[in-house]
Amino acid sequence: MTNKDLLKIAHQHGTPVYVYDAESIRLQYEKLTSSFHSHTRFFYAAKALTNINILKYIESLGAGLDCVSINEVRLGLRAGFTNDRILFTPNCVDLKEIEDAMELKVHINIDNISILEQFGNRYGSSYPIFIRINPHIYAGGNHKISTGHIDSKFGISIHQLRHIERVMKSTNLLVEGLHMHTGSEIKDPDVFLQGLEIMFELAEHFPDLKYLDMGSGFKIPYQEGDLETDVKTLGKKVEKALSAYQKETGKKFQLWFEPGKFLVGNSGHFLVKANVIKQTTATVFCGINSGFNHLIRPMFYDSYHLIENLSNPRGAQRIYTVVGNICETDTFAWDRKLNEVRESDVLVFRNAGAYGFEMSSNFNSRLKPAEVLFLDGKAHLIRKRDEFEDLLRNQIEIL
Ligand SMILES: *Cc1c(COP(=O)(O)O)cnc(C)c1O
Repeated sequence: MTNKDLLKIAHQHGTPVYVYDAESIRLQYEKLTSSFHSHTRFFYAAKALTNINILKYIESLGAGLDCVSINEVRLGLRAGFTNDRILFTPNCVDLKEIEDAMELKVHINIDNISILEQFGNRYGSSYPIFIRINPHIYAGGNHKISTGHIDSKFGISIHQLRHIERVMKSTNLLVEGLHMHTGSEIKDPDVFLQGLEIMFELAEHFPDLKYLDMGSGFKIPYQEGDLETDVKTLGKKVEKALSAYQKETGKKFQLWFEPGKFLVGNSGHFLVKANVIKQTTATVFCGINSGFNHLIRPMFYDSYHLIENLSNPRGAQRIYTVVGNICETDTFAWDRKLNEVRESDVLVFRNAGAYGFEMSSNFNSRLKPAEVLFLDGKAHLIRKRDEFEDLLRNQIEIL
């Protein structure tokens, strides 16, 4: 998909619009499958981007699906994932939501002792489960996206192993998988190896274990000089660790990963229009026809998105602060060098596939953007832009 294709989409479907390149998703998936041994499986973390067409496309590649809510499970089933290819990994849900997932016969991952106990008391060994462990490895890009540290709400602490064992013993729980997910944007493959070693130690305590789920946190590059998690090296190291473990213990596990961002992040291009160029005493603002209600990552956790001016690629480079139209601080980028931006130029935010549209809202009563999937050389509209009436949907006018 070229910049020309993107401009054509902007003109045909208007802006703001999210565009996803199917080819890029496929290449990322193949990068993973070719880096790891065949008994490694990849479960796409649906929460990064759940458009039903994206789910169907990823299903067609052969991946599984990691879901954090019962509705993601339902979307996955609708998209064609069979129940054995779906893992439900919720956090702070009640037993009822877990029971709904049982009815759909998907793999279930339990992440606190309270639910583990309730589940065990009611279902014993009749339904195998995963347990989410918090290994207390501090990993990932920043505190807000790190989930494995000591005061994280995720998982059951490894220090509570005795307690887990007591519940298992008293309720006959059948634990078929152990899971950990320590954060996002982990560059260093050794963090995963460290996690795997902890899994191996824990494995002795779970006689029915079949699966070790290492979660995700694979990093993607956002700006020049950024690195992607080296999955080739990771694949080799993991393979070595697994076979050493097998030699030592005679035990063999299937390894799972749950990439979200790694699969869809780079596939996404968010197209917007420059509405206003505003020179103040110290700054040149480029005000666009979007805001953090469409792409919250920069305001939410200081993420960097590369921005380019597609309409004036040869224009002189100038420095802009790119801001949105929301009535709150709404800055996408400070002091960013762009080819001269004229009002009505089309700009693109790169690497916007993951947690972009998915975290969008109607704040300021603005409409959510459209979504386009570029597949086999053709652009397909896969979500209409919101319309005014969408703002009133579900409201009950009593006055
Ligand atoms: C968010 C999440 C992922 C995906 O993380 P990425 O950084 O997008 O790859 C995987 N597993 C679980 C349990 C998650 O919550």
